[in-house]
Parts: sequence; structure tokens; C-alpha cells
Amino acid sequence: MDKILLMLQLQTQLNDATNGEAWVKGITKNGKVINWKRWIYMECAEMVDSFSWKHWKSINKEPDWDNLQIEVIDVWHFIISLAIENYSQNLKGGIEDLAINISQLDSFNTIDKETKVFDTQDNVISKVENIMLLSLSKEILNTEDLITEFFDLVVMSGLNLETLYRLYVGKNILNQFRQDNGYKDGSYIKVWDGEEDNVVMKRVWEENSDIKPDALYKELTKLYLALTKS
Ligand code: MG
Ligand code: MG
Repeated sequence: MDKILLMLQLQTQLNDATNGEAWVKGITKNGKVINWKRWIYMECAEMVDSFSWKHWKSINKEPDWDNLQIEVIDVWHFIISLAIENYSQNLKGGIEDLAINISQLDSFNTIDKETKVFDTQDNVISKVENIMLLSLSKEILNTEDLITEFFDLVVMSGLNLETLYRLYVGKNILNQFRQDNGYKDGSYIKVWDGEEDNVVMKRVWEENSDIKPDALYKELTKLYLALTKS
């Protein structure tokens, strides 16, 4: 519950900072319409691309599980944004209420334990497509159903609450780092020595499991400076 609430708080801060505080009404401070559902199915497509799903190309290639996990974290940003928006617009409550309801889902118990096993490619893709279906549906969204499908996917991708939380916070720090290093004006370098910054961030977390968010930020700064100096 604490970890869920913390993630909801971080996401609110990120959305407030990038879109303005009226984002829960579905519109940014620049007047752009926000479509979280579209983000969800687009990120789901990126998940599918972690597998060799094309029946004529690289048919024996191993799934890119590292990338899949990164995309799972990406989609989580949009699922919780949509959930917060949904709660606000339908007067269902704030992030505290949402955190309580999430932690009472049966599926929450399944992510709150140790797992490291990947499901099969076909099962994972099928679960990803369930999430796409919900995000493309014209019916009224049931936030809890969407989150339940997502928690199933978390387990199937070899993640759990702890790793979801750590990678989510890591991505949040990375987003901040990108903003502080020229992401908006386009001068930011996303590929570090042949690897995407996401992958580098994930490895720093995995190598130092107790690292604090500010230490992670410093480590990223060190690596980025070494890169831009040479
Ligand atoms: Mg993307
Ligand atoms: Mg992505």
C-alpha cells in the first residue's frame, strides 16, 4: 500500500509539473487534449515488439525480457495517470482512496511476493492484448479491471511489487534527469555508448539494490558526463 501510494504521488507530481495541475480534467496547460488510453495501447505495442512476433522474421530470436520490463514500467505511468484522472472525474476520490482500493484487489496479493519467472511469449502477448482491448474499448472503463490485468502482466514479466516500485522510481529519476539535461530543446543524448539510457538506469539499480533515488541521480550524472566529455 505504501509503495502504491508513493508511486501515485510521484506520478501526480510529474503530471503536475509537465502538464499543469488541471491535467486531471484531460487537458494540459498548453491546451492539448490528454489521451492516456492511447498512450497505453501504444506502449503495449512496444511490449509486443520485445518478442519476435513476426512469423517470417528472426523466428528463433529470444524475447528481449529487459526491454519488456522497461515497457511494463512505461505503461504503468499511463495506467495510474488514467486511474487518477478517472477517480477525479467520477468523484471516486483522491490518490489515497485509489491506493486503498488497489491494495484491496485480489491481484495485488499476487504481485506482493517474490517472483522471477517469465511466462511464455504467447501468454504474455495475449495478456498485453487484453490491456490493449480495455484501452481501446468504447465502454466505460473499469479502473480496477485494468489494474488487475496489469498486475497479472507484472507477474508474467518476472516482476513483483518491489521491482515494479524500484524500476518505476528509477524511471521517474531518469525523466527528471532528462528534463535537467536538455530533453525539451533536443540536446539530450538518449543512447549512451550504444545502450539506451533506460537500460543503463536499470543496470545501476540492479547492481546497487539499496541505492537511494538521489544517489541514482548522481550516478547517472557521472556516467552522462563521462560520455559527453569524450
Ligand atoms: Mg514509448
Ligand atoms: Mg516505452
